[in-house]
Amino acid sequence: MLDSFRFDRLFIDGEWTVPLDGGVRGSIDPATGKVWGDVAYGGIKDIDRAVAAARAAFEGPWRRMPGWERAAILRRFADLYATQIDALARIETQDNGRAVRESRGDIGLHPQYWHWFASLADKLSGRTIPMDDSVHAFTSRLPVGVVGTITPWNVPLMAATWKLGPALAAGCTVVLKPAEQTPASSLALARLFQEAGFPPGVVNVVPGDGPAAGAHLVAHPGVDKIAFTGEGATAKTILKTGADTLKRFSFELGGKAPHIIFADADIEQALNAATGSAWALCGQSCALGSRILVERPVYDRVVAAFRERAARVRVGMPLDPATHMGPQAHHQQLDKTLSYIDIGRREGADLVAGGSRIDSPDLAGGYFVEPTVFAGVRPDMRIAQEEIFGPVAAIIPFDGEEEAVSIANGTPYGLAAGLWTSDTGRAHRVANRIEAGIVWVNTYRYIRWSTPYGGFKTSGWGRENGIEALDSYLETRTTIIST
Ligand code: NAD
Repeated sequence: MLDSFRFDRLFIDGEWTVPLDGGVRGSIDPATGKVWGDVAYGGIKDIDRAVAAARAAFEGPWRRMPGWERAAILRRFADLYATQIDALARIETQDNGRAVRESRGDIGLHPQYWHWFASLADKLSGRTIPMDDSVHAFTSRLPVGVVGTITPWNVPLMAATWKLGPALAAGCTVVLKPAEQTPASSLALARLFQEAGFPPGVVNVVPGDGPAAGAHLVAHPGVDKIAFTGEGATAKTILKTGADTLKRFSFELGGKAPHIIFADADIEQALNAATGSAWALCGQSCALGSRILVERPVYDRVVAAFRERAARVRVGMPLDPATHMGPQAHHQQLDKTLSYIDIGRREGADLVAGGSRIDSPDLAGGYFVEPTVFAGVRPDMRIAQEEIFGPVAAIIPFDGEEEAVSIANGTPYGLAAGLWTSDTGRAHRVANRIEAGIVWVNTYRYIRWSTPYGGFKTSGWGRENGIEALDSYLETRTTIIST
């Protein structure tokens, strides 16, 4: 169905439409630096049209539909999505350069997310509240309304799934604005929404520039909530832009997750996870363990293993199924990663692997960077404090639990952490003190639809996945009736 799909129109009110005040422009393949195809983007008028359609669909069929009917449409969509995994993975990889084996693995899980959210659509119930005989009090759970979802370029379909799944199950309608660098897979998603039989206007997809289409969506009085994934700096701008409307906000923001490896851990297991997550998505994911905190007795062993494994990463064309790591998703991210490598060098960290752009003839023109490892990193260095979003691991030695906790918590971020130890008491003690929305012990990056995910501190507001995600798309009304 998606093989001959055209990306040069917007999806508004159930129809494919040319942009009113946007246009069509070439989307760059980061593996070559060249345009791979034309993709539509919308402007202010297109956002206005999409919000009006979402509002009409919300007031019309969608919120009034019994939950089991919404669930049935969502299940149909989930089944359809499952038939399109390969096509969706190819489209997303072409746009953002993530190795297709990774895209496929991630996207292959999405149908189960959709099924899980579908299963919640007919279970939105309130509770009765004991008062006295003069009144009967109860709560009802109601959809928030029209939701503007703004997604990043690293995982466009995952971010859309995590937002639209609970929003639609709750009875909200949606305008999805994907990142300008990677709009294609979200338009393909719209094709599946259309085919699955969602009423017109329930889902609208309008790619566009953040400061134009994105800001207009945020400021729009017809939008009741903004669900955003992206950088903290953008979230601050969004808060200011949307302040006048006092709409609801949820934010999934950046991270600087630590892997804390104690000497008593299964070191091979810890290394598999830590090296794997250092270079997954070419380092472009919020929950990757970009800081490797290593207890001194095993420090040299871990540094040597990182050096050796960095050399074994197969960097290559992302659509090649044998490739482990593709390019950075766009040129600005390439520049940012290279500039942080430079900062690490200047700060005096010990560069033990990588450190350069790859310009071999077969990868020329693409935004490829070597898997890079800095050892001897001090916790206060910028490469240990700031989100790089590239394949750059910073290895930091520590002595004992107290210092591990202090370093782990010593950044403004609080999204995720990994803890490696064979001592169960230590696992509980240390995990309990980590300021992060998710702590993995002797495993890493294992999440599912049912596990809440989100950040402490500057890593975000609210949670995605789990029942908590559904809650964030619902209002509670209390009714008190005189008897
Ligand atoms: P970004 O903030 O630059 O852009 C994200 C989205 O915001 C894009 O769609 C963009 O067009 C839009 N945008 C930009 N300016 C805007 C404005 N003024 N008003 C409205 N919208 C605007 O982020 P990015 O570079 O695309 O993504 C990378 C960031 O996302 C990293 O910090 C990463 O850690 C974070 N992230 C977090 C999670 C999580 O679950 N916590 C998941 C993925 C990515």
